[in-house]
Amino acid sequence: MPAKYLISKSVPCNITDLRLATEEELWKEHRNQTNNFLQTWKAVRLDDDLNTISDLSLQKRSSLMDLNVELVKRMLTHCNFCRWNCQIDRSSDETVGEDRNGVREKIKNKHGTCQLESASNVSSYFHHRGEELVFRGNMGSGTIFFTSCNMRCSFCQNGDISTDKNNGIPITPSLLALMIWQLRMEGCHNTNWVGGDPTIHLHTIVQAINMLNSFKMPNTNIKKDEQEDLEYIERIKADNLLHSWKMNSQYAFYQKRFFNSPQLWNSNFFMSDETMCVLRSLMDAWLPDFKFGPGKCALDLSRTPWYWETITNNLKLIHEWGEDFVIRHLIMPNHVECCTKPVLEWIARNMPEVPINIMDQYYPDNLCDPSSSKYRERYGEIARSPTKEEIVRAYQYAKDLSLNFEALSYEKSAFGLNL
Ligand code: SF4
Repeated sequence: MPAKYLISKSVPCNITDLRLATEEELWKEHRNQTNNFLQTWKAVRLDDDLNTISDLSLQKRSSLMDLNVELVKRMLTHCNFCRWNCQIDRSSDETVGEDRNGVREKIKNKHGTCQLESASNVSSYFHHRGEELVFRGNMGSGTIFFTSCNMRCSFCQNGDISTDKNNGIPITPSLLALMIWQLRMEGCHNTNWVGGDPTIHLHTIVQAINMLNSFKMPNTNIKKDEQEDLEYIERIKADNLLHSWKMNSQYAFYQKRFFNSPQLWNSNFFMSDETMCVLRSLMDAWLPDFKFGPGKCALDLSRTPWYWETITNNLKLIHEWGEDFVIRHLIMPNHVECCTKPVLEWIARNMPEVPINIMDQYYPDNLCDPSSSKYRERYGEIARSPTKEEIVRAYQYAKDLSLNFEALSYEKSAFGLNL
């Protein structure tokens, strides 16, 4: 089936020059065209409308995809990508203001919680063979790791990249598109956006997806500038030694014409409503984290307010939208009663059929690792792995609630435990 971004490119937009429209006008048009998008998407899924895919950019007409691109650029100027809603201008590093004497001067823009400006860094990309079987298949999930994060988890197991925005290499949307293309041509089943968190790089990601139509049928005669770009990005390709460069376009093109890579949003889900609306017409599957219960744990351990309300709101949205998703929940030591239990109960009440991966691989890292100089004693309660008793207790809660967790959780269990 065509990835959603291909359908978005075939839904025409009624605004002639998007750059001249107000943001309000763009959102109004976006709502209208999302409705049209959904009709085609549903028809495509029912397999009865497979000839409707076209690429409006070839006809010099703007599409829902172009609307998405324009909207994320506008959002960047008053950043509301995630629930922090910092409202700072990330589109430039400086603004012109006036000092106390009325003299015009350049003022360095403030940073939001994620510490980012407009630039995006990718730390690594590779065929991920450790994701859930439904996403990794037999060729791996085409995973792209961005730096920095909008949550500040004391136990982060990717702390080297989530707390260091300069890790890896700076990338542009076209370099990112090249990563997507390379991974898919090597046989990856999908593009897997992760970090840190991908939400804070929304503008770069959406622009990259918009460029994917520039890749035509496999052309092994790579141009010189493309070769230079490939050499640049391959410095961070973590599986270079494992995978020889081998074209495998068998599934990479829809109708032998359109480059087709399904998009997977692998995120902490601490996103704004606006970001959810943009991603609705771009993401083919979702992999949300649901870590904490409704108490103070998100604030204490991740310095993240509004956690429960934001995550449950976004989960309800993708459920109502009929999206494909797997919820991940990490069992944490001493947090089975306050976090695991309410999380599982909420899922049982609201979306009992949804597959869950209840993960048992927590180990103390980042500020929670007693052997590290970064260790902080106030995180002592989570400075160990969960016990077997805690893991089995979490599984038992899920079983008592008749949740759909066994296939995914047991297959990935680090301890090989099951009920
Ligand atoms: S992405 Fe989130 S944390 Fe970063 S500036 Fe935007 S609203 Fe703030």
